[in-house]
Order: sequence, then C-alpha cells, then structure tokens
Amino acid sequence: MNAFEAANRYISKAARIMNLGPRVERLLLSLEAEHHVTIPIERDNGELAVFTGYRFQHNSARGPTKGGLRFHPMLDADDVRAMAALMTWKTAVVNVPFGGAKGGVACDPALLSQGELERVTRKFVERISQEIGPQRDIPAPDVNTNAQVMAWIMDQYSRLHGFAPAAVTGKPVELHGSEGREAATGYGVICVTESFLQDVGSSLKGATMAIQGFGNVGQFSALFAHERGAKIVAVSDVSGGVANQEGLNIPALVKFARSRHLLSEYQADGVSPINNDTLLTQEVDVLIPAALGGVLTPEVAHEVRAKVIVEAANGPTFPEADEILEKRGITIIPDILANAGGVTVSYFEWTQNLQCLRWTEKEVNDRLRQIMSAAYATIRGLVRSRKLDWRTAAYIVALGRVAKAAMLRGV
Ligand code: NAD
Repeated sequence: MNAFEAANRYISKAARIMNLGPRVERLLLSLEAEHHVTIPIERDNGELAVFTGYRFQHNSARGPTKGGLRFHPMLDADDVRAMAALMTWKTAVVNVPFGGAKGGVACDPALLSQGELERVTRKFVERISQEIGPQRDIPAPDVNTNAQVMAWIMDQYSRLHGFAPAAVTGKPVELHGSEGREAATGYGVICVTESFLQDVGSSLKGATMAIQGFGNVGQFSALFAHERGAKIVAVSDVSGGVANQEGLNIPALVKFARSRHLLSEYQADGVSPINNDTLLTQEVDVLIPAALGGVLTPEVAHEVRAKVIVEAANGPTFPEADEILEKRGITIIPDILANAGGVTVSYFEWTQNLQCLRWTEKEVNDRLRQIMSAAYATIRGLVRSRKLDWRTAAYIVALGRVAKAAMLRGV
C-alpha cells in the first residue's frame, strides 16, 4: 500500500460509518489535477542539472487549494498525492476556507549552494505559475523549505503576475509574512497535546516526551512543551539524536541546531546518543513524530511505549500500525488535527495579505488557540459520543464538511 492508498483508507472507513455512499466517496478519493514539471538549472560549475517538480491539487470544494512544498531527494508522486489529500482533510478539520494541495522538488538542498537553491525555486515557480495564485492554489513551507524559499516564490510569482504577496504563505515577517507563522505548527501541536493531557487528568508539567525531527516543527514543539514544564527526554534529526532521562536542555539544543549542527554532534553532561528507531520506542508519556512520514511501521508499533502519540509529521503512521496501536490502547492524535496550526496561521497570513493589514503576534496566537481548541473539542465530542478513535473522528468531521460543500456546488 502506498502513502496515497493509506490516506484514502481512512476516508473510506469514515465514509462507511457516515453512510455517504459510493458516489461521494468516488468524488472525494481522486485528485483534481497533477502537474509534473522538469526543472533545469545551471549548477555553479556550469553543468546542467534537471530535477523533477510536482504540484498536485486534491480538492477545491471548500476554497482555493493550499499546501506545502517539500524539497527532498526521495519525494515521489505518491507522497505528493497523499499529502495533498491530507491537506483537504486538515483544512476541513480546522474549518479554514481552503482545499488541499501539495508539491515539491525531488532534490537534496544540502547538496545545492544557496544560488542553486534559488534557481531551482524560481524555475519551479515559472513552471507552475499558471497553476498557483492567491485565489487558486497557495503554497507554503514544508520539509527543507523555509521563509527564504517562500520569499523567492513570492518574488518570482509577482514578476510574472504583478505584486501578489497572498500567492504564498510562510514568508518572512519583513516581507508580508505573518507574526507567529514560523512557530505555528509547533504551537498547535502543543495546544492539542496540553488539551489531551488535561482531559486524561494529567498535564504538560512533568510529562515526559520524545520528539523525532528537530526542524521547524520539532524545535518549536520542544520549546513550547519545555516552557510549559514538560520533560523532553529524547530528540533526534536525520543524523540521530540525544537522550537524557532527567530532561534535555531544549533551548541549548535549539541554539545548537540553528547554528547548522547535526544533533549527533551534540555533547553535554548526562546526555547520551540515541538512534531514530530507539527514540520511537522510549517509555514516555508523549511521543511526537515530527520528521518524515511512514516511521511508525507495524513492527515499531508493537514496541512503542508511549501513552499518546501526537502526529506532528504528516502521515507518520502506517494504517496497520494504527490498528496495532489502537488495540494496544495507545491513543493517536492524528496529523490532520495535531499539525493543523501551520495551515491555520497560513490562512491568517493570506487573510492579512488580501486586506493589506497586520495582526500582532498575540492576536495570531489567540486566534490560533481558539481554532485549535474548537477543532479539538468537536473531535473529542465524536470520540466520546460515538466511541471512535481520534483519527476516524477527525476524518468524519472533515469528510462531512468537504462532502457537504462538494454536494452544494454540484459535480
Ligand atoms: P524541516 O525540514 O524544518 O525539519 C525536518 C526535520 O526532520 C529535520 O530535523 C531533519 O533532520 C529531520 N529528518 C529528516 N529525515 C529524517 C529521518 N529519516 N529520520 C529522522 N529525522 C529526519 O521540516 P518541518 O517543516 O519541521 O516538517 C516536519 C514534518 O512536519 C513533516 O512531516 C511536515 O510535512 C510536517 N508539517 C510541517 C508543517 C510546517 O509548517 N512546516 C506543517 C504541518 C506539517
């Protein structure tokens, strides 16, 4: 089963529970458009390199499509399909007026100079410039793309179509970005984690946590959890990670990672190395996968010793692993709820750009917390009243909203 089939399995399950019928299911399981492009650039040494780029739009029933851009050597069309679909359901879970899309370039930014990265980004925008736009499809950051990449996208799109800051979100604050966007996904992850822990009679204060992935989402999740008194005992990046049962010094680790160091190089008293597989099976209250998808395999699921898994990454859990974890009584807060803070503040950024106004960081965070709390409460209501797992409940909420919009608009 590829990543897209896995994502659709959850939809089919929710559609059956909702008695939606095959017509709606068929309408919502396929993508609206898939744009495959080639991206030729001149390398710094004068050689020609050609990369493959994707921008896929899953469903626009609820509004312009929205979703991140990933630059990663292993990126393929199935990943992009799966993540585009996830964006349709995620935007519906938090009830922001978008559909779902995703894209990216199969390249390794670590092997490109800054100039080469800029040329890849600009050529990619040139290739897809008719397919994106403020009222059509709005990209955002994802793995290996950051505010600088979004700035190039805004500039290139504006060169082709006229000034259009709302064509992309996740831009630098100095260039029509929103306060709070960079931290938003991690902030949302911790809002949801805190709500869940309170519901089960616990709290973030003193809760033990392991976090896989120490980029944008992993770092901000760690920082917010640490600030609220959680004890983060293990973190990792692509190189491996570090652990300390007494709790890691998160601000020091964030500083270290932001100065372009790999976590496997980190040394401090009481800190020991840990690999990515071992991190996932640590005995902790909360496990936060915040790197790539497909890390919680059926084999790993048997070994997980966390009480709750909060999916900060997109698609970290295989469907078979999901069933195993469910049977073992381990709660999973699904990606389409847990990491929806990013797209929520992307919606705020788009809104601010369209109206040419600015919100303060406090306004952004207050509204973000409101939206995450409302989405959490709606899904918790279904979990309790219908005795469902959190993922199925989230898909039922999302599917209901998308199906309703699709039916109202007509085929
Ligand atoms: P990032 O590029 O900033 O960081 C990715 C992190 O994962 C890095 O620390 C990297 O070293 C690590 N990593 C990469 N490959 C790994 C591997 N094989 N094993 C362990 N660690 C590995 O990316 P990000 O923006 O933090 O995104 C992380 C996850 O969160 C992705 O699944 C992404 O789709 C999801 N997400 C991101 C956002 C956002 O706003 N950036 C929003 C929603 C969901």
